[in-house]
Amino acid sequence: MSGKVYLVGAGPGDPGLLTLKGARCLASCDAVVYDFLANPELLDLAPEGAERIYVGKKGGAHTMGQAEINRLLCALAAAGKTVCRLKGGDPFVFGRGGEEASALAQAGLAFEVVPGVTSAIAAPAYAGIPVSDRRAATEVAFVTGHEDPHKPSSTINWEALARIGTVVFLMGVKNLPHICAKLVEHGRDPATPAAAVRWGTTPAQQTLSGTLATLPGLVAAAGLKAPAITIVGPVVALREELAWYERLPLFGRRVLVTRAREQASRLSQGLAELGAQVIEVPTIAIAPPEDPKPLSTAIALLEDFHWLIFTSPNGVEAFFRALREAGRDVRALCAAKLAAIGPATAAALTARGLAADVTAATFQAEGLLDALQEQGLTGQRILLPRAAEAREVLPETLASWGNLVQVVPAYRSLPPAGSAAKLARALDEGLDAVTFTASSTVHNLMALLPLKRRPELIAANQAGRPIVAAIGPITADTAREYGLKVQVQPAQFTLPALIAALAGHFAAS
Ligand code: SAH
Repeated sequence: MSGKVYLVGAGPGDPGLLTLKGARCLASCDAVVYDFLANPELLDLAPEGAERIYVGKKGGAHTMGQAEINRLLCALAAAGKTVCRLKGGDPFVFGRGGEEASALAQAGLAFEVVPGVTSAIAAPAYAGIPVSDRRAATEVAFVTGHEDPHKPSSTINWEALARIGTVVFLMGVKNLPHICAKLVEHGRDPATPAAAVRWGTTPAQQTLSGTLATLPGLVAAAGLKAPAITIVGPVVALREELAWYERLPLFGRRVLVTRAREQASRLSQGLAELGAQVIEVPTIAIAPPEDPKPLSTAIALLEDFHWLIFTSPNGVEAFFRALREAGRDVRALCAAKLAAIGPATAAALTARGLAADVTAATFQAEGLLDALQEQGLTGQRILLPRAAEAREVLPETLASWGNLVQVVPAYRSLPPAGSAAKLARALDEGLDAVTFTASSTVHNLMALLPLKRRPELIAANQAGRPIVAAIGPITADTAREYGLKVQVQPAQFTLPALIAALAGHFAAS
């Protein structure tokens, strides 16, 4: 049985612009064959075990020639693999997808095409330029700007193009002076609005706008390079009113997100929705405790405890894993009362069919103690399954009220592999903000940083870039202990409040 190749449009850059069908193909493939222009974040959607093959093409530097790519796709399909051939934008819009499909067809191999959102439309859209608009253009042409200007006879119909409302050029940055000159030579008004959009639909988007006469000079002066789209026509003027993306409050801001991998997405997504370029450096990987004995012993004796107190969703997860491994289930908790340190921890309990008896309004130990105090907690046996490394306020205060508190390490947080290199690269490239959502993220970030780079980060932060945003006062204090200045701290200790406070900070600056 031979396999099948899905020629999938990856969209123009914003990973949210992948189609649902494209996402399904990615999720069920044996191999992904991808290009320079396909957002590498999308690879996370492929199964962990899927082969990932980069076939490149950055400017002129081809990692693999087209004939070789065709052979690779045929070989994978012939070997019975389901292949996701992920191509930037739409596979059939200047993407050589047609040639790949032909190679498969000629080899008698199965393929399907999953169209994508082409950059030819999406990059202008994110720059506030509708490619057609009743008020300005009733026809659109898409043109390759790649043609060698020294070729004696052009295959481009300049005569016709000079008369078309909107002309969109792909791959045309290098040839821009030639393109603009040709249009003017064939009768287009040199005052026609024209714009170039680089890395459209991504937080790195850069737009230059002028006229046919001025754009080549602007592009040269700014050193704008591929990949960029050039749009010519009166629709470009609508950008003044419609440039929505570049006006988002965090547009173009480089923000470091430091959270455990599984938890990072909500913060990252919220920031990206406001236009930020999010650099995720997972600083915590969750691992089982070095010694699993205390937890398993406590689980064997669960009926002895009056109270179980959870201080993080990770703690809940680790506890229930150990419960399962001990061959027990939630019924072992029948007699115990449950407390959760904050809404996320309470939600982790709810997900397991358990309602917390006490939940703190804030994410902090002090908040939970206030809530527990109302219960007049004394003379109770309390189990506290939590991180191996954690603050002592909670057990100490509970013990001071006359309770018997047993603290058991339920999990350990470790620096994940690859994060140190990613952090160093992010600092080299420059950051506008660093976010901290728990004291542990501060400790772990600092631990990832080579000692000699710490003063560098602290000095840069003191000078105002990157700013530090901390979710609450304890986290902020931890950051200050390292010499960092905390410029952003929301009134409420929640992720949406943190995102809003960051947006507010940059809107005001
Ligand atoms: N099949 C792709 C086009 C491939 S040709 C599509 O449908 O979008 C490569 C050219 O696409 C680049 O030279 C550039 O002109 C354009 N391009 C692709 N992604 C882009 C982006 N995010 N911003 C601007 N131009 C882009």
